[in-house]
Amino acid sequence: MITAKFGGTAVTPSNLIYIKRIVGRNHNFVVVSAVGKEYAQDDKTTDLLLRYFDTRDSALWDKIAQKYRRLTQVNGVDIDINGLLDDARARVDAFDRSYCASLGEELSARVVARFLDARYIEAEDIVRFKDGQLDAEQTYRNIAEINGGELCVVGGFYGGCKGGRQTFSRGGSDVTGAIFALASNASLYENWTDVDGVCVADPFKVFASRVETLSYAEMRLLALAGAEVLHPDAVSPVEEAGIPIKIGNFFRPEGEGTLVSHCPSRNKLLSVAEKRENEHFVTTVLHGYPRWEILSKLSRFLKSVSRVEDVGFALCEVCDVAILRIELSDGVLRIESRQSLLQTLYPSLLLD
Ligand code: ASP
Repeated sequence: MITAKFGGTAVTPSNLIYIKRIVGRNHNFVVVSAVGKEYAQDDKTTDLLLRYFDTRDSALWDKIAQKYRRLTQVNGVDIDINGLLDDARARVDAFDRSYCASLGEELSARVVARFLDARYIEAEDIVRFKDGQLDAEQTYRNIAEINGGELCVVGGFYGGCKGGRQTFSRGGSDVTGAIFALASNASLYENWTDVDGVCVADPFKVFASRVETLSYAEMRLLALAGAEVLHPDAVSPVEEAGIPIKIGNFFRPEGEGTLVSHCPSRNKLLSVAEKRENEHFVTTVLHGYPRWEILSKLSRFLKSVSRVEDVGFALCEVCDVAILRIELSDGVLRIESRQSLLQTLYPSLLLD
């Protein structure tokens, strides 16, 4: 059986239909995120919920409610969404910030379960936290006890704890998916997103090709380096059991996506991931080049961003201007800079 997790972009009015197209008789668990962005400047439901908790600004709640009303109306989901929204809002006052953040996933799962004519599973009862940590033993036991043979839909990102709910860190629905895949002994963990799989660099910023295969360790490194495609904590649970992860594009489910398993990547350039850390950018390049080759690519890049011809000197020059630190260890190049480097660094790494 297959466990499938759908990110927030799939749970939007115009994309919900893709979930129905993908989910079939081989699926046992479907894990969903809160309604995501419908356009670049849109807000994620989870961000709106957190802001609502902090301010109690009813305009924010109206925005959240509108997202879920449209989700059900556009897709003809026969559910009392106003009743569910009123009930959720009433619970905000009785609980803490984590509880409020979890409401997006809960509402998504209730709507998707009805849409797929599947059974709704309340994550609070199944995914359990104890002393601030996931109570893995109890959680796995709870999942194993769910009667098989029926398609179940569950909200990702949160679980229950003494007196309320707790969430994983942001993007944590991936972790819920991995836990359900492991506990139900799935043959595959599908992670559906809006890109064609793991790309060598952010495909929204540069033209980057897909990575066909990755090992669990490579995927974890990449996620830690800032590739937002999968939560780093979603790798270990399935790695233990050797369950492969397929990261695919729900718009094009027939595409191959990226398969994460015990097989390492065949790419020389594995990933160029950039993330913001305080005021700076940290760019991590994972690669399989020999040292001389990565050094020559690095020097080409440094020449391209500096007007000075001599690389030794250029290094000092650019260090002053934008690059604060360069670290080169086996297979990993890390550059800390004041400005984003992706657009300039990436082409230099591709050239032979
Ligand atoms: N909705 C949560 C977030 O925005 C969790 C998730 O989507 O995985 O981080």
